Amino acid sequence: MSDATAPRILSLGAGVQSTTLLLLSAEGRLPRLDAAIFADTRWESQEVYDHLDRLEREVAVPAGIPILRASTGDIRQDALDPAARYAQMPLYVRGTGGGEGMLRRACTAEYKLKALKQLVREILGYPYPQRIPAGLYVEQWIGISLDEASRAVGLVNEVSYMRSEFPLLFLPGGAGPTHLGWTRKDCERYLESQGFGSTPKSACIGCPYTSNARWRRMRDERPADWAEAVAFDERIRNGYARSIASGKPLHGEAFLHRSRVPLAQAPIDRVTRGEWAARQSDLFDELADEEQEERGCSPWACRGEDDG
Ligand code: SF4
Repeated sequence: MSDATAPRILSLGAGVQSTTLLLLSAEGRLPRLDAAIFADTRWESQEVYDHLDRLEREVAVPAGIPILRASTGDIRQDALDPAARYAQMPLYVRGTGGGEGMLRRACTAEYKLKALKQLVREILGYPYPQRIPAGLYVEQWIGISLDEASRAVGLVNEVSYMRSEFPLLFLPGGAGPTHLGWTRKDCERYLESQGFGSTPKSACIGCPYTSNARWRRMRDERPADWAEAVAFDERIRNGYARSIASGKPLHGEAFLHRSRVPLAQAPIDRVTRGEWAARQSDLFDELADEEQEERGCSPWACRGEDDG
């Protein structure tokens, strides 16, 4: 398959940058995508699913770009089901001896990357475990903006059948003006102008990387999601259901909040250093806070670690 015939797909995290790429392609300012793939952990907030539906209805379908949903399971249900296989979230742990740590994060690889790769294999006509012939690949767009260009390092062609392009950094193929050079702020301004200024963060409702600012918003604005996260936090205190059922409980306790306090009592009203720094750096502009705190989790750029 030559470059010209490689399917062009977007890894649609549904956040600011990937939403921008979808709109730019639909508008004809970037080459036309053949599909956009949303890797679904099935535990996103309703506002993310509503955003996806709106994108599909108002942008993708009119432009002839299918939005495909890929999933390997329900991250929340799998964690609570003793019979389900699961991939652990980066839970905060306090050991029986008092030592503190974090479980290794496997969820993004299982519920996002694997789901994306499985669907790409199907698009290419070689579902797992078939061997994909050498030279067959999709061109995969990843929404990484200029201000976070270092994130692109190491993401280039992790598997031979997905060749990464970063259109916010460079136009695919290098034709024309090769450097789009859009920052996250540029993307936000563009989305605002297109009526998508309220593009939400994509992340699991109970993601342990959630910042205090986002926990507060969830508690105050989305009480049903907050109640679900609090209930989940209580149920994973001794580890995942399958581990417990198989006689391998956690030697200690697990928590969603970094304070290692039950979420319902966690100090989420405390303004973290990162949140405070973001406010200081932009003259207390709320947008700076948003920029710091509202980064989401996408298959190739899980940004939760940045939350202050
Ligand atoms: S949002 Fe958090 S819990 Fe969900 S896949 Fe990403 S890192 Fe894991």
